[in-house]
This record gives sequence, C-alpha cells and structure tokens, in this order.
Amino acid sequence: MIQPEQQRRAYLEALGIDVWLPRDEAESEAEQACSGAEPEGMDWTALRDAVAGCTRCALHQSRTQTVFGVGSPNADWMIIGEAPGAEEDRRGEPFVGRAGKLLDEMLRAVGQGRDSVFIANILKCRPPNNRDPKPEESSQCRTYLERQIELVQPKIVLAVGRIAAHLLLDTDTPVGRLRGSTHYLGETPLIVTYHPAYLLRSPSQKRKSWDDLCLARSIAAEAAA
Ligand code: URA
Repeated sequence: MIQPEQQRRAYLEALGIDVWLPRDEAESEAEQACSGAEPEGMDWTALRDAVAGCTRCALHQSRTQTVFGVGSPNADWMIIGEAPGAEEDRRGEPFVGRAGKLLDEMLRAVGQGRDSVFIANILKCRPPNNRDPKPEESSQCRTYLERQIELVQPKIVLAVGRIAAHLLLDTDTPVGRLRGSTHYLGETPLIVTYHPAYLLRSPSQKRKSWDDLCLARSIAAEAAA
C-alpha cells in the first residue's frame, strides 16, 4: 500500500517540484540507495549489481570483491555454503580453494558440475580471517540469497556445513543430526551435509556425505519426473 507521505512525494516529483528532506532522512535514503535496494523482484542483472555495490555491513570495507555465486540460473541443484575464503575473495567465485576442489569431486560423483548446479554462500563478502559470520552480517545478506533461490527455483538445496544449515533452517541442531532427512525451505526440499573443509580434516566422514548426496539426487530426480 502506498503511504500518504510516499504519495505526496510522488505527486510533487511528478510536478517537477524538488522535495526537500530533513538531513537525517536524506542521508539514510542515500545510504539505502548506495547499499542496494531490497532485492525483492530483481532480475539477475539487478541482483548482481546490488550485491556488487552492497555496503550493508562492515565486510564491504575489507573485501577485495563480492562473491555472487556461480552456475546455471536454472539449476536443479543449489549448493549453499558459508562465506568466501581468501581464494574466493581474490577470484570472485565461490568454492575455488581446496574445499572447492573436493566439492567439485563430490558433485561430479553424482553427475553434476559447476555449470549444471548453482553455488552460492550465505555471505557474499569474506569475513576477516575466515571467522564465522556475525548474526547481523547474515541477516543483512540473507535477502540476496533468498532472491537467488527464488530465481533459480532449484529442485533440491544442499546446505553444506553448520553455518549454512543453521541459518537456512533457523536451528542450532548439530549437522550430524540434521543430515539424513529431508528439510524444507518453503516448498523446496533441503538436504544438509558436511562442509567439504570439514571433510578434508575428517575424511572418515566422506561416506556419510556420499549418502547425503545420494539422498539429494533421488529427491531431485523424483521432482524432475
Ligand atoms: N567455504 C564456503 O563455505 N564457501 C566458499 O565459497 C568457500 C569456502
């Protein structure tokens, strides 16, 4: 619903009359414009531009560049990780370090690749020293990811690791208990598995991760049938 103040401003603007705002209000509107409008309804180009120019949280000050995501805009699979690391920050692409190589292998094992899935992170900017995302950073960034999910309309979401699983499912249940069953993001099925960086440190868990991928594959195949 258009608010009376918005209506008044639209009317004055339509008549070519400058609208003067109190300094605080003008500054906060300028800030909003710089930090990107709400992504609701944006197409891929607008969303990519909004992310690239985002200044919603302090991470924009330390990033080399934003890491938007990579893959097919119509992917059946959407992989969601935590946040860019040093290599991702440098190259502008998610999962390109050692953990990324393992993720590529895991995907290949179920017949998927970087071009057929869509890979994104909870955060689009690297947290310094790869620390965990702060709650305010995740909540500021969340609408970008939500719009990405809406645009891709995946048949299956694979949340890799604790941070992604906890934020997407709004829970603090350990990954070990979240994996192995189907969760939902709205109507989209979501499977939780271990983060590839964790699997590099604990290779004995790879077997469980394989089971998770097989579960995701069967859900995606069912949805496509
Ligand atoms: N870990 C993540 O969660 N995302 C990346 O992009 C790289 C490492």
